[in-house]
Amino acid sequence: MPNPLRRTEIPPTAGLPPCWRDLVPAGSARADPASLAGHAARFLETDAVQIECSGTASLVVALTALHRLSGRRVVVVPAYTCPLVALAVAHCGLQVRLCDLAPNSIDFDAQHLARACDRDVLAVVPTHLAGRVADIDTALTIARCVGAFVIEDAAQAFGARQGGQPVGFRGDAGFFSLAVGKGLTTFEGGVLVARDPALRDAFARTSRQIVPRRFGWEIKRSLQFLGYHLFYRPSLLGMVYGAPLRRALRNNDPVAAVGDDFSTDVPLHTLGNWRQAVGARAFARWPAFLDACATLARRRKQQLAHIGLRVLEDPVGGEGTWPFLLVMLRSEAERDAALRTLWGAGVGVSRLFIHALPDYAYLTRIVGEHDVPNARAFAATTLTISNSPWLDDARFAEICAVLQGA
Ligand SMILES: *Cc1c(COP(=O)(O)O)cnc(C)c1O
Repeated sequence: MPNPLRRTEIPPTAGLPPCWRDLVPAGSARADPASLAGHAARFLETDAVQIECSGTASLVVALTALHRLSGRRVVVVPAYTCPLVALAVAHCGLQVRLCDLAPNSIDFDAQHLARACDRDVLAVVPTHLAGRVADIDTALTIARCVGAFVIEDAAQAFGARQGGQPVGFRGDAGFFSLAVGKGLTTFEGGVLVARDPALRDAFARTSRQIVPRRFGWEIKRSLQFLGYHLFYRPSLLGMVYGAPLRRALRNNDPVAAVGDDFSTDVPLHTLGNWRQAVGARAFARWPAFLDACATLARRRKQQLAHIGLRVLEDPVGGEGTWPFLLVMLRSEAERDAALRTLWGAGVGVSRLFIHALPDYAYLTRIVGEHDVPNARAFAATTLTISNSPWLDDARFAEICAVLQGA
């Protein structure tokens, strides 16, 4: 890629650009710390949400509470998803059961899911991966047959809608991530939701019991959050994101390159008032930013379709979010040929999770060995193009040219 000076680095996902003014309370409108939950609830058109310190922590709280209600121990998760989902299940002392995806899809293979669901299953976790709207109804139908709960993993889809309604509420519970890179962020953070007020109460009770205040973590996250406000811009992102990425690629370590090398312990702590207040203020810019991302994605999907490339889309009635475009190539060789030029070039091209879950060395004890061909094919043949507004048309055209060549 002709980018010899690399004066800028495009982030791999469309994070809401931070704003210094968010860091300080504005005059009399001194943000009430409860207002992050208030803004999130209004945005999600619901009565109340629960704020946790991460998407993973939200899942831990939900699973712990549901386990206390039903005593069951098995959690069915997609064989291709964020490794943190498996780590959350293990953290709760519960058992991961993998379900393969349907071919070229983020949805469960329905037959595989029906086989995976028995009376031991506590919950099924369909996932709105890549901002796309997942098929919750099929998961619900199958889960209901065995009396299991459904938890919608909407970590990557804060603002996605299905049939005009925000995702996260068709199942029994849902969660969104406020991690860096997933959109609106408190550096790390999570939003846990449930339709049923009784379940919401159970989640709140469980959270009070298992989530402590941890001053050290809050200091660390607050400093990281300040660093994010400083460095999350094309001119400086090369130092904190681009350089480590290129080092990992030189070391042939794709797992480190995309940040999949998660620690196996899950920090659980409350999300501090200051970070909540900063996140609350960022909400003023969030809906317009999502709209701008959707408009940009619509145009760029057409450009990619024009050169014969397939982008993962929403089902009828779905209006997902567009943190990036997930491009599905015909083969791993083709995908890797494109990445040799584009990954690490500073243009926002990357991969989603590197492996299907059984192929992460650090997860083998948790998920075991499985034959999940569709999840593996998904991992092997997809790449992502950032939908950050900082990726301009000229550079997008260069990306298209490389993809066409591959
Ligand atoms: C990021 C992510 C999570 C975990 O969210 P965190 O806020 O990073 O803990 C869970 N599921 C999916 C699909 C994710 O992408």
